[in-house]
Amino acid sequence: MTASRPIRLPDLHGVGPKLADKMKALGISQVADLLFHLPNRYEDRTRIHPIGSCQPGQRVLIEGRVEHSAIVRGRRAMLVVVLFDGTGRVTLRFFHFRAYQRQQLASGTRLRCFGEIRAGFKGLEMIHPGYKRLSDHQDEPVADRLTPIYPTAEGLGQKIWLRMTDQALALMRKGELELEELLPVELLKQLKLMPLAEALDYIHRPPPNADVAALALRDHPTQKRLALEELLAHNLSMQKLHRRQRARRAPAMPAVSGAENAFLHSLPFELTAAQKRVAREIGADLERATPMLRLVHGDVGSGKTVIAALAAMRAVDNGLQTAITAPTELLAEQHFQVFSKWLKPLGLDPVWLSGKVTGKRRSEALQRIRDGAEVVIGTHALMQKGVEFKSLGLVIVDEQHRFGVGQRMDLLEKGGTGGQQAHQMIMTATPIPRTLAMTAYAGMDVSVIDELPPGRKPVTTVVMSNERRGEVIRRVASACADDRQAYWVCTLIEETDAIEAQAAEDVARHLSDDLQGLAIGLIHGRMKPTDKQQVMDAFKAGDIHLLVATTVIEVGVDVPNASLMIIENAERLGLAQLHQLRGRVGRGSSQSSCVLMYNPPLGELARQRMEIMRQTADGFQIAEKDLELRGPGEVLGTRQTGMLLFRVADLARDAGLLKIIPSAADALLREHPGQVDKLIRRWVGDASRFAGV
Ligand code: ADP
Ligand code: MG
Repeated sequence: MTASRPIRLPDLHGVGPKLADKMKALGISQVADLLFHLPNRYEDRTRIHPIGSCQPGQRVLIEGRVEHSAIVRGRRAMLVVVLFDGTGRVTLRFFHFRAYQRQQLASGTRLRCFGEIRAGFKGLEMIHPGYKRLSDHQDEPVADRLTPIYPTAEGLGQKIWLRMTDQALALMRKGELELEELLPVELLKQLKLMPLAEALDYIHRPPPNADVAALALRDHPTQKRLALEELLAHNLSMQKLHRRQRARRAPAMPAVSGAENAFLHSLPFELTAAQKRVAREIGADLERATPMLRLVHGDVGSGKTVIAALAAMRAVDNGLQTAITAPTELLAEQHFQVFSKWLKPLGLDPVWLSGKVTGKRRSEALQRIRDGAEVVIGTHALMQKGVEFKSLGLVIVDEQHRFGVGQRMDLLEKGGTGGQQAHQMIMTATPIPRTLAMTAYAGMDVSVIDELPPGRKPVTTVVMSNERRGEVIRRVASACADDRQAYWVCTLIEETDAIEAQAAEDVARHLSDDLQGLAIGLIHGRMKPTDKQQVMDAFKAGDIHLLVATTVIEVGVDVPNASLMIIENAERLGLAQLHQLRGRVGRGSSQSSCVLMYNPPLGELARQRMEIMRQTADGFQIAEKDLELRGPGEVLGTRQTGMLLFRVADLARDAGLLKIIPSAADALLREHPGQVDKLIRRWVGDASRFAGV
């Protein structure tokens, strides 16, 4: 059935080296790959519409005779052609045309056109329709399938795609492509899925009666079938990756009465029951000579940092190094500060490394890491080449959903010399829905910190229009007069850092006018790390009453005395982000509140988000709602999570499928292990280095 050698693109007619290169840039090098590049939408060229029945806005195929054709000279010359089919007339307008087209479209010519019907000056029009001249009496057949429109790149017209996919589909029908059915028959039956080749045929060339609306939403059974296969492949590749890691050896780290105990006793509080349970789970993992692979879920403020520190102390007690990374400079700095404060009394001096540490300070840091410094904290700079650990035993990633799998792997490789592997712990803040976790972190053990430290008072959330800004400002004034502190967050998404920084500066200036007598600080992503640190220190010390910030403070910032959070243009943010920001308050003993300010009118989706924020503070609930409302991009930070860029699947739309993935994956591993690598290769392709296939 399958070809012995994959058929490559240049084997197709009309595909030269140049085109093959362009396609390669899109990740398509074999003919079979073409068929996983799915159309965005479809055009119906299967029926000829009588012009008299055409409505503006329709994209239709029409046929008629040219009644009149002329070049009209205005500011620019335009070729105007009137087409008549016995039922009505339509004016074709060409703003760009060549001299020969005038002849081509002369009166009396029979034409078939495809384009969008518009309401023009003098009746129906088509601007720059695609057209074909027909011979006088012969009938030309119409398409018998819908015409796919492919997502494409510069210089790759739809005609090229059609030519290539026509050939690919023909080869597939002859059974000459490597397109084995990889899903077991039982699964296909159980879920009523059609075979792969049939699904691909349908998606690329749907019949005229196809449900185009479903296809456009990628919600058609044929597409669902591919999405399922893709999700399954990702789940299997994560499992495989994690299994491969588990097959290695890791340094066993038994509990001894040393830094771990000393640290625990130095804390001014007792661990919550949930923290104790998670610490025990981690402790048991670390005692084994196989690598820990553990995800620690815990809502904002649940106290994950202490857990991380305890694990690091276990490594210290066993003479091994710990690397702790966070996705942003600010968050990593916070960790560095907290750890330094905690560990210095124990005689430990953490090393700081970020991309901004350069020159002599950098070489000193690198030297200390090489010499075996116990605790190293930083951004992903820790994962770069040139950073060599003496004896890395534990990797802690405070992920906050911003790291890609790839980056995590880079760090792990540092701890994996020979058959050795460092223990690994990932902390995620906004709890992600369970179904999502099982896909994104398939094959990891999970611990949940499902309890907040005692004494936390729930944050009251109110929603207010921008028009009541004056009221909000008075609220800030009275809170600060009461010795409380406040955040004012300016949000501009999809703008540059520079514009965001500018906006924050403007807001800070205006607020200083309105709030004379208050100390107002400013923090944004464009500031130098030392300047940021100074501002944060001053805020922590209480020297700044109101901190105007961009969303840089979203994660990790911990100032218990701050009890008022104002979020401007809150309607622009996703739920996960709002939850993170609100989590900056409610950390101390006083009653905290959060004001979500919006720019009216509030859209339906935004209104629902605000309502959810008002009603619940439970991160798990918020995460589920977030997935429902806007898709997981916000939950997982799609842009940074390389593995979640699917070709067909969409975690929000296909959330229903996620539920069946784990059991389907298990069945496949158990009963059809031979298919697993093939599935991974088909769908995960380039990411295969993570799966070792
Ligand atoms: P997150 O889980 O969001 O990372 P942190 O680790 O930053 O939370 O903890 C939030 C705050 O709660 C910190 O100030 C931390 O010192 C404090 N904290 C952590 N555990 C406890 C506890 N068991 N009792 C009291 N306070 C705690
Ligand atoms: Mg944290």
